[in-house]
Amino acid sequence: MVDDDRELRFAIIGAGMAGILSAIKLKEAGLTDVTVYEKADRVGGTWRENTYPGLSCDVPSHLYSYSFAPTPDWSHRFSPGDEIQQYFERVAREHDVEQQTRFGAAVTRCRFEDGMWHIETEGGHRDVVDVVIAATGVLHHPKLPEFDGLDDFEGALFHSARWDHDVPLEGARVGIVGTGSTAVQMVSALVDRVDKLSLFQRTAQWIMPQDNPPYSEDEKSEFRANPEQLAELRANLTRVFDTFANAIVDADSPEMKMIAGMCRENLENNVRDPELREALRPDYQAACKRLIISPDFYEAIQRPNAALVTGAIERVEAAGVRTRDGRLHELDVLVLATGFKTDAFMRPMTVIGRNGESLAQAWAARPSAYMSVSIPGFPNFFMLNGPNGPVGNFSLIEVAELQFGYIMQLLEPLRSGERREVSATRGAMEQHEAARVQAVEKTVWVTGCRSWYLDDRGIPATWPWSFDRFRSEMQSPHSAAFEYR
Ligand SMILES: Cc1cc2nc3c(=O)[nH]c(=O)nc-3n(C[C@H](O)[C@H](O)[C@H](O)COP(=O)(O)OP(=O)(O)OC[C@H]3O[C@@H](n4cnc5c(N)ncnc54)[C@H](O)[C@@H]3O)c2cc1C
Repeated sequence: MVDDDRELRFAIIGAGMAGILSAIKLKEAGLTDVTVYEKADRVGGTWRENTYPGLSCDVPSHLYSYSFAPTPDWSHRFSPGDEIQQYFERVAREHDVEQQTRFGAAVTRCRFEDGMWHIETEGGHRDVVDVVIAATGVLHHPKLPEFDGLDDFEGALFHSARWDHDVPLEGARVGIVGTGSTAVQMVSALVDRVDKLSLFQRTAQWIMPQDNPPYSEDEKSEFRANPEQLAELRANLTRVFDTFANAIVDADSPEMKMIAGMCRENLENNVRDPELREALRPDYQAACKRLIISPDFYEAIQRPNAALVTGAIERVEAAGVRTRDGRLHELDVLVLATGFKTDAFMRPMTVIGRNGESLAQAWAARPSAYMSVSIPGFPNFFMLNGPNGPVGNFSLIEVAELQFGYIMQLLEPLRSGERREVSATRGAMEQHEAARVQAVEKTVWVTGCRSWYLDDRGIPATWPWSFDRFRSEMQSPHSAAFEYR
């Protein structure tokens, strides 16, 4: 309670997976004075924005679900993107999140003044709240490559997160730039639909073979009839993924070696042409970049109408892409599967904390936050999936759920009226950061590749310890790491 008679008022920014989660959990805790600000016209975030052919989760669906909203209905082990979007829409609807949400409301400014956050949206709406939860996403702002001549291209050109469904693909010559999970998923989905598919590869990727069987109607009925079975399946998947999550932070672990072996065998056994095989062979350790899973990428890239282009891109021209060897690759459609600005977080929003310090100042070197959730000098402002949090091939839903539980504990003294403000101390933040930078040395992310995990210094901007340690840190905040007023 604030002033003994008022519950805390919250603004949640973003209605993706983490914003929906926050609204539901606040309500569950009896906190109903909540507005969700969402700049788009629907909930869903990532899964609303990404609609490219072949999009699916690379975490099994029964793990990539809220712990409080399991569903027996997932169609596949790794269900497609539109099904995930429908899942988030349904959960949001069932918990009345949409009623709490202002759609079409991009928050442009948050300023901490007299103990409250003053919020402004692009449309001029203003609000004053006690607590802000920034659930603005991490893979959200598309990153575009800086090729000369991009504007000259006369075909259809778009980023993978802005798929133009009006562009016909049948009979088209399609180029894809990039070799991350998105590009790999697109290659498999598109190769049989298009006339010619060219994949422009700067860096080869290790591919972990992984089947994606559908769940039969019998299996789904069984899950419906026996929720314990569903819970057991989730527990088993959690154990498998924990093994992986714990392995990536130890580059020399036996599990990491096993994963590397499986990727190598996949390449050796499934790519017939030795020249293509070598072109597809990465020169770094598996999982150094986010590990890609696919049941059929190698099969797809070996189709007669598919081409792997390894020559560096010189420029884009009206008719297609010219590589440095002088060849023009003629195209009707060019898709930029070039990822996201992973250091943007809630920016370009302006955030002004205590004493007029701006986020731009606090993050002048690079984004940082204590335990990914709290920035010193920015009281009562919390992030979900913020800087340096766990990344890898596991469910970011679990990460957000754990972080949310941690934030709720931090807010207890504010709810009881004992305190008005809470934020991490600078000392705790600096210590945490120093330990983090030291610990990344053992991880697979520093074994010699360029990846979106690395910051401007080449240091992985991630949680470098085991997932178990993350869970245990999130169990209860160290009180000495936080300053209450
Ligand atoms: C292609 C792709 C595949 C992925 N696959 C997986 C996977 O297999 N497993 C996994 O765990 N994760 C995966 N991810 C990561 C995925 O982003 C997260 O799992 C999760 O969806 C993130 O949810 P979020 O709510 O944190 O952010 P987002 O889903 O990005 O949602 C953020 C929301 O905030 C809104 N917003 C942002 N700024 C503002 C503002 N200033 N004002 C108002 N609203 C704002 C946005 O419009 C958006 O709706 C994938 C991401 C991509 C892009």
